[in-house]
Amino acid sequence: MRLLMDKKEIITWLHESSPGALSRLFKDADACRHRCVGDCVHVRGIIEFSNYCSKNCLYCGLRRSNSRIHRYRLSLPEIYACAEQAKKLRIPTVVLQSGEDPGYSIKDLCILAAKIKKLGLTVTVSIGERSFLDYRRLKEAGADRYLLRFETSNALLYRRLKPDSSLKKRITCIENLKQLGYETGSGSMIGLPGQSIGNIASDILLFAELGLDMIGIGPFIPHPDTPLSKAGKGSSEMVLKAVALTRLVTKNTNIPATTALGTIDAKGRQKALCCGANVIMPNLTPREYRVLYQIYPDKICISEDSIKCRQCIETMVTGIGRKIARGPGNRRVQRIVK
Ligand code: SAH
Ligand code: SF4
Repeated sequence: MRLLMDKKEIITWLHESSPGALSRLFKDADACRHRCVGDCVHVRGIIEFSNYCSKNCLYCGLRRSNSRIHRYRLSLPEIYACAEQAKKLRIPTVVLQSGEDPGYSIKDLCILAAKIKKLGLTVTVSIGERSFLDYRRLKEAGADRYLLRFETSNALLYRRLKPDSSLKKRITCIENLKQLGYETGSGSMIGLPGQSIGNIASDILLFAELGLDMIGIGPFIPHPDTPLSKAGKGSSEMVLKAVALTRLVTKNTNIPATTALGTIDAKGRQKALCCGANVIMPNLTPREYRVLYQIYPDKICISEDSIKCRQCIETMVTGIGRKIARGPGNRRVQRIVK
């Protein structure tokens, strides 16, 4: 298969449903992953430190209008304790994720990032849209990476689903992060109500155009306490096709096998790791809070503790004949495609 694909070709693949053709696509994507980023799987521990959110994204259970959710906010020492747990479990990267919570000052977040860096961990932040200045302060304090999905590349759909923001603003944030030297991650959801196959193809092309380091692709999962409660969920096969095509188009990016995919398909993460993905994100949130970080319902891994999550990931990765990476797994120090 040619590795340079145009939109038409991507759309044709996204429409493909024959098992033989898909098995070829997935094999090609797996070979591309092997060539471009090697066989190790990188582990990033996610700490969901607050479920307060000032935004009202239609798809998300943390949206500000959801009054049925019990809100929590971890203290800085509690968050730090999760990072210490990561260190103990030999997880080299932590992802600090939350709703867009004004309850933490940028100063506090900087202190936290700096302290976690001193543990020798790589710090990824995922707290939504902030000013250039805030991103700069966090970077200077020691944050290495930032995750900010653009969710959909269709500006109209974006506006409908994220009434507080615009695609243009989101892309500016992503460009600011890149300019500041963050390893920058973005991504999208598959199966959003109103999304077309053409939109998904455009998402994939936008990943390449933005020159992203990390790309997360997961299914949309309807949450009962949101305006999209009656919508259908994304299909696991479509997510896998998008992961495979993203690998073939973007080559040496870091692509997680997402927890949302594991939620709609029990073997989803293993399948993603076999068709282009090379990252896995165990949950390090204290057990009592996990159940409350309900972006979407029925999320997996909410009753296990961090140690169990780490073991489960080890079994998953070795079970498909791969190894867990030891280093931080930066994109730039990995092998570039020949
Ligand atoms: N508040 C930050 C980070 C937390 S949300 C932000 O919005 O960037 C993290 C991700 O959860 C979002 O980027 C979105 O892609 C995903 N998400 C939200 N609601 C979802 C749903 N109903 N189904 C699947 N993924 C969802
Ligand atoms: Fe808030 Fe992020 Fe959920 Fe939107 S997706 S409501 S910004 S937590």
